[in-house]
Amino acid sequence: METIVKIIQHECLTCHVLFWISEAHHNRLVSSKEGFYCPNGHCASFVGKTDVEKLKEVKEELNKNLEYTKNLEKTAEASYKREQELEKKLKECKKAQKSTTHSKKAGHN
Ligand SMILES: [Zn+2]
Repeated sequence: METIVKIIQHECLTCHVLFWISEAHHNRLVSSKEGFYCPNGHCASFVGKTDVEKLKEVKEELNKNLEYTKNLEKTAEASYKREQELEKKLKECKKAQKSTTHSKKAGHN
C-alpha cells in the first residue's frame, strides 16, 4: 500500500529556517490558530494571513503597479511620438512658409 502525504513548506519568521509539515497538520494549525514551534524553538501561529496569502497579496500589488507603470510608459511613448510628429509638421510648415515667402519675393522682383 502506498501512502501519499502532501507536505507544506514553512519559514520561521524569526530565524527564517525552512521546515515542512504535513498538509493535514498545516490545515489543522491554520483553522485552530494553535501555536507551534519552528525547529529552533521559535513560537509561531497562524493568527493572521499565511505567508502564502501575504505573498499572493504582494504579488497582486506588484502586478497592479507593473500594469500601471506599463500604461504610463505607453502614454509617455505615445505623447513622445505625437510630439515628434507635431515637431516634424511644424518644421514642414515653416519650410513651406519660407519657400512661399521666397517665391513671392521672387515674383515681385
Ligand atoms: Zn525559528
